[in-house]
Amino acid sequence: MRLVLLGPPGAGKGTQAATMVEKYNIVHISTGDLLRAAVKAGTKLGLEAKGYMESGQLVPDSLILGLMEERIQQEDCQEGFLLDGFPRTPAQADALDEMLTKLGQKLDAVVNIEVPLDKLMVRLTGRRVCKTCGATYHVSFNPSPKGDLCGNCGAELIQRADDTEETVKNRLDVYEQQTAPLIDYYTKAGIIKNINGDQDIKKVLEDISIALGGKE
Ligand code: ADP
Ligand code: AMP
Repeated sequence: MRLVLLGPPGAGKGTQAATMVEKYNIVHISTGDLLRAAVKAGTKLGLEAKGYMESGQLVPDSLILGLMEERIQQEDCQEGFLLDGFPRTPAQADALDEMLTKLGQKLDAVVNIEVPLDKLMVRLTGRRVCKTCGATYHVSFNPSPKGDLCGNCGAELIQRADDTEETVKNRLDVYEQQTAPLIDYYTKAGIIKNINGDQDIKKVLEDISIALGGKE
């Protein structure tokens, strides 16, 4: 299955992806994770992307498109993939379409997780992620059973550098202006599945499963 997870920052894409990859036996490809790893490793890509990410802007397509074209052709993507954070603009969606056409593939569905914008600030400023395995928690809505340590691997939980109030505001503006038009784009393509993301994490997963044709 080849899927895209769409939705504003904080909608719960990463949270749902963690379970969906097991359920559908597909690879989770998060452009945000790929870019953060590049920043951490200090690669050329990371150095170029860092400033944009810190201010909540999108990094230029010249940094993202080649990276994604290479990634979706890797061996582990043969059974399918779950794209999270890509595409983020209609231009990126066109580019993805071209990449897939060249490979003789197409998207099965775009899962659009809907959450009212006024709920996203508290989700993002309260987000904590594991430094080692990347598991995602929330201080109030989804706390780790081990407090400040990861429930999976026991490593330290940290706050993302761009999860501050100021940067979140920019990221939400960028979403509204540049990414939200994709809802219309994929509605017209007839492959969008709109999901209410403003409910319990498990219920969101159930609704996604039903929308993708399973029981729950
Ligand atoms: P995204 O990947 O879309 O940016 P995340 O999956 O990282 O979003 O979720 C953002 C924050 O909201 C995290 O702290 C996460 O624990 C929390 N969260 C995710 N889904 C829900 C939900 N259904 N209800 C409440 N909080 C949630
Ligand atoms: P995310 O982890 O999806 O919230 O992304 C974090 C940051 O990485 C974004 O604010 C952007 O700066 C950058 N980023 C991630 N994906 C993309 C993309 N597809 N296009 C441009 N920038 C991206």
